[in-house]
Amino acid sequence: MTTPYAIVIVSVRGVGGDGAMTVVGALWREAGRCFQAVLRVAADIGVWVIGTLIIAVVTAGFARADPALPDPGSFNIDLDPATASGPRAPKQLYTFGVPYTWSGSLNWRYNDAGRPTSISKTDVIAGINAAAGQWMAACKVTIAQASDTTTPPQTINGTAPSSNENVIGWGNLAIPPKGGPNLSGVTYTSSRQGALVDADTTFSTTWITNPLALRRVAVHELGHAIGLAHSNVEGQVMSGPVGSNNPGVPDTPYNSLSTLQVDDIQGCLCLYGPSVANAGQGFLCDLPSHLEFGSTALGTTSGSKAVTLTNDAKSGNVVIGQISMSAPDFRYTGGCYPGTTLAPGQSCTFGIAFAPIGTAGSRIGYAQIATGTLGPYRFPLTGTASGAPPRNYEGLWWNAPAASEPGWGVNFAHQGDTLFVTWFTYDNEGKPLWFAAVAQKQSGDVYSGELFTATGPAFNAVPFKASSVLETTVGSATFSFSDVNHGTFAWNVDGVAQTKAITRQIFASAVPTCTFGAQANLALASNHQGLWWNFPANSEAGWGMYVTQQGDTLFITWYTYGLDGQPMWLIALARPIAPNVYSGPISTVTGPSFAAAPFDPSRVVETEIGTATLTFIDGNNGSFAYSVNGIAQTKEITRQVFVAPGTVCQ
Ligand SMILES: [Zn+2]
Repeated sequence: MTTPYAIVIVSVRGVGGDGAMTVVGALWREAGRCFQAVLRVAADIGVWVIGTLIIAVVTAGFARADPALPDPGSFNIDLDPATASGPRAPKQLYTFGVPYTWSGSLNWRYNDAGRPTSISKTDVIAGINAAAGQWMAACKVTIAQASDTTTPPQTINGTAPSSNENVIGWGNLAIPPKGGPNLSGVTYTSSRQGALVDADTTFSTTWITNPLALRRVAVHELGHAIGLAHSNVEGQVMSGPVGSNNPGVPDTPYNSLSTLQVDDIQGCLCLYGPSVANAGQGFLCDLPSHLEFGSTALGTTSGSKAVTLTNDAKSGNVVIGQISMSAPDFRYTGGCYPGTTLAPGQSCTFGIAFAPIGTAGSRIGYAQIATGTLGPYRFPLTGTASGAPPRNYEGLWWNAPAASEPGWGVNFAHQGDTLFVTWFTYDNEGKPLWFAAVAQKQSGDVYSGELFTATGPAFNAVPFKASSVLETTVGSATFSFSDVNHGTFAWNVDGVAQTKAITRQIFASAVPTCTFGAQANLALASNHQGLWWNFPANSEAGWGMYVTQQGDTLFITWYTYGLDGQPMWLIALARPIAPNVYSGPISTVTGPSFAAAPFDPSRVVETEIGTATLTFIDGNNGSFAYSVNGIAQTKEITRQVFVAPGTVCQ
């Protein structure tokens, strides 16, 4: 560590086959043969059996492309289930839960009946072909237009006899029970013996009234038609509510995208193998659809779950990059380290654990695996945090019993298992002196670390050069807590040692409760208690201020350096003078040496030397304006987070 406030505690967030895409001409010839096969199947079947509802209605409120469309849906019908579905490739979510594909080309026929007059037939055909082109560019699927038909697509409720013509047409999708007012498109797929044999898509005559809307829904519905269910990743063309064939996977919101995203392309690859454009690049298909960690007590860590990454390509390596978690409740526990290279068929294994922070409730996050090509890969993580949060000691403490030694104190910034401690006291000459410590949790409720002091640029230096801050280790500090409000402070400075009983300092009501991880977005914090430093973070490491807020009163301890570069602290008691603005006198204090025994509080002398004003923009940002002995300055400040996402009090 180089400066007292520059604490950096790293939190760990941190099939196919090659071959040419069938050219359009050949595809047309292939289309004819496949189509005949499909018709024979249809003759065997006679009528459709109603399958599983995959998509229903998406709730409003998610960010969507503009203009937003409601959710397109899909249904599937397994006409003759395969007895053995083969190895499951769970990364992507498939309409039938397992990766069913078209054995040949998906040849679709257009039915123009019912088309809204606001969109031309030419635009419809162009939109479908553009969507098909995107999928064929991503993977080795073939989708081709066959001749127009007058056969209607499957009805919204799946009640019509099967035509097995792969009709794309128009209809009213608001008819219950499966229909509803917020469906913009529906695809019925059916399968026999593990292969897709029919797909009918109906565009809503209510919603699909312009070429852009058609392109958006067409690319999504074609994804269903080739065998993809809704993605488990947000922000993809195939994002949408996850159906019963993929139980436990959290929903993602449909978002009206018209261009395939990385997870869409990965799904296509894992079903059909690489397109010409993607040939020779490694890819992963065996990621879990999601990892569910169950209930885990706050402050504890679940067992690690193993995730195996296998390069499923026939040629081309996968080079693993950073593996990271989107939420601090989930932790990467090692394996598949950056730079790991997987040749085709090779695997590596890494671990993820659930270590919930904050308060009890359900958690959702994502694991992300960066790769050199065709990545990153993401999949959801879920779990439930149970029990009470671990004790948090965040706040201002002083000698116990309360008021027995006014004049000195310690501030604890408590994040995760780390206490960042600032101790404000006096040197042998009675001048203000501060020490700091990074105390790590030991066994039980004991925290200890080295105690240091620092010299640095004067408080009013412009610029404040953090590189000039010099830390000196002078001893050690150990804090042992008996409950959330009581403990002992044992220190050793240059061979002199003392143990002090300490307790929280209460100067106003209400005293807040502080919880590590209770608020991922610190800007939303309503109480300003915590350690603050110059904005942007780490721009002026070496000075800081601890703000204790009880009710609407702020007690501020400002740790900095005097004009002589020696450690100096000042205090301010600030009260509201306007919304989000707190102001009050700023004082310097002299008193007995930290080593004095007994500590004689009658020798503590406080002298007002100016004013301090804190103006908060939100729970995580503000400014600090001071006037000290005629020197005035304003500094932008932000919370100091050394273990993400930090601690908030309320
Ligand atoms: Zn859908």
